[in-house]
Amino acid sequence: MARKSSRKTAKQRAIDSALAVVRERRNGRSSASGSKAGRAGGKTKKQLEIERIERWIKRNLPPQGSPEWEALCTECGKCCYDKVWRGSRLMLLKSACGYLDTKTNLCKCYEDRFENEPLCLPVGAEIMQMGGLPEDCPYVQGLPGYRPPLVVDKTIDEI
Ligand code: SF4
Ligand code: SF4
Repeated sequence: MARKSSRKTAKQRAIDSALAVVRERRNGRSSASGSKAGRAGGKTKKQLEIERIERWIKRNLPPQGSPEWEALCTECGKCCYDKVWRGSRLMLLKSACGYLDTKTNLCKCYEDRFENEPLCLPVGAEIMQMGGLPEDCPYVQGLPGYRPPLVVDKTIDEI
């Protein structure tokens, strides 16, 4: 249970932050979540970084969604643990998404995960730009400049 506070809890802040990302994606807009973005040619730094990562993915990884792409996942489940922003850095916590089966590390609603869990992001340039995949995740091996989340031994209710 979340701590009671007159201020927003970390979980609420995390949800607000992630919902903003979801809204941006649905609206087809980009914004400076987590940083003050400058603009170049009408694009934010964040959008330019996402595009750089998309190009890197195309050059270095199997086609997204292909069996080869899926096979890269070791099903460690780490990307399904709670994340919160600390300044411009994501922290990866030890509490898991409610849909993660922590015994098998598999999602209990994989087919409907994006409908069921607005904080769930697909593996791709967006979550990579945020630094939401752990250091040992195969999808980010060799990605120049990748900054993984800070692993913190706390649950979302303890921070
Ligand atoms: S962190 Fe990477 S390897 Fe682990 S479950 Fe997520 S995508 Fe798969
Ligand atoms: S809903 Fe998303 S974050 Fe939650 S367990 Fe399933 S895949 Fe992981």
